[in-house]
Amino acid sequence: ALVVRHRMRSSGRWARAMAILKDLEEKCATPIGKLRQVADAMTVEMLAGLASEGGSKLKMLISYVDNLPTGDETGLFYALDLGGTNFRVLRVQLGGKGGYVVRQEFEEVSIPPNLMVGSSSELFDFIAAALAKFVASEGEEFHLPVGRQRELGFTFSFPVKQTSISSGTLIKWTKGFAINGTVGEDVVAELTKAMERQGLDMRVTALVNDTIGTLAGGRYYDNDVVAAVILGTGTNAAYVEHAQAIPKWHGLLPKSGKMVINMEWGNFRSSHLPITEYDQALDVESLNPGEQIFEKLISGMYLGEIVRRVLLRMAEEAALFGDSVPPNLEVQFILRTPDMSAMHHDTSSDLRVVGTKLKDILGISNTSLKTRKLVVKVCDIIASRGARLAAAGILGVLKKQDRDNAARDGSDMQRTVIAMDGGLYEHYTRFRNCLETTLREMLGEEAAPSIVIKLASDGSGIGAALLAASHSQYLELEES
Ligand code: BGC
Ligand code: MG
Repeated sequence: ALVVRHRMRSSGRWARAMAILKDLEEKCATPIGKLRQVADAMTVEMLAGLASEGGSKLKMLISYVDNLPTGDETGLFYALDLGGTNFRVLRVQLGGKGGYVVRQEFEEVSIPPNLMVGSSSELFDFIAAALAKFVASEGEEFHLPVGRQRELGFTFSFPVKQTSISSGTLIKWTKGFAINGTVGEDVVAELTKAMERQGLDMRVTALVNDTIGTLAGGRYYDNDVVAAVILGTGTNAAYVEHAQAIPKWHGLLPKSGKMVINMEWGNFRSSHLPITEYDQALDVESLNPGEQIFEKLISGMYLGEIVRRVLLRMAEEAALFGDSVPPNLEVQFILRTPDMSAMHHDTSSDLRVVGTKLKDILGISNTSLKTRKLVVKVCDIIASRGARLAAAGILGVLKKQDRDNAARDGSDMQRTVIAMDGGLYEHYTRFRNCLETTLREMLGEEAAPSIVIKLASDGSGIGAALLAASHSQYLELEES
């Protein structure tokens, strides 16, 4: 009788786990019809965000970039890229007149976690110190005309209200950053003060979001680049807009007639988004509750954490991992997206990688194959939802640019290139494949071949350097 009861109980547990899975699958479902609604909502919100300040959850920030790189940029420029788990410093010697990048060097420094939640001056001092050290290592092969100040493109991957191409105030921190006293401050002034404290003589001539840097870097090599998307720790998109289509822009109409817009799509939200109780709990307990809802469904910072929350529920309510809940499973952000990706890509017959990850990260040993398969299924549901929503977002942008359809006059479709950056897209193959398949499906056979996603790893650094060059303080001097 005992044995029978036990068996019943264990099959009851499994049934409960399957019920949780089924419920998850239903709530995360993203049929094409729903994705079209998301894409349409994205386009609508884009219009609202362009119409007036605060008109939408989409900030549609004006970048002050009205000209993208041409290949004629010349000279030595620096770039600094801050926004993910690492920051990067870079110097490039630009060839001018189609000479492109003659020489480049970079260094990557990981940001000590305590600095991401510390004080503003501590963070900027740390960055400026690394930059000063990097500048000091500049070799003879880089050339700066005598008497000139070094110039820097600053890629700052957070929402900024720009006041010019080289200044802007922080609207809010996102991702893992939460530093007191920086919101509302001019981040270029903060960096400049920190550089002065280091005795580093350098001028910031361009302040750009990473999407803008990626767009600029992409355009440098390919004239058909008209948008950029980041799928990394966070997510965002930028695109080239007609200046006349920006009612909230009261400045002069740029000669080019164009203006690059930083959408800040991570903050998009819509009733069409498939949001579960796991997402709601994640949001409430996050550093920025109520903010960046789209980002929390899609980006690398959160995918693994959503999976952890689902597994925790299965452990608590269906005793998936035994009678007690494994303590590590209760630790927020312990399951990182790269680990989720590794489990999701496990092709071994006994799902060895899944077993090892569960053991090493969550302290759960001796999992059955059945349990491992269930874990992979959870990863698949969460990754697919994110990838498909990202595809819908891209379709929304293409629609706004009127590049989602064959031209109405029947002429051939113009080639449209989206510059892409971010570790999630680059390293999470199943996520990437799902995104691309979904986008192709939504575009249809006729339009899909004209839309190209081009990976531009760390293109934002070069992009920022290029924009620093095209906004150099010495430029007018040279042109006259
Ligand atoms: C930020 C954006 C950034 C994106 C990708 C988001 O959290 O708000 O400014 O472009 O992450 O790095
Ligand atoms: Mg980056």
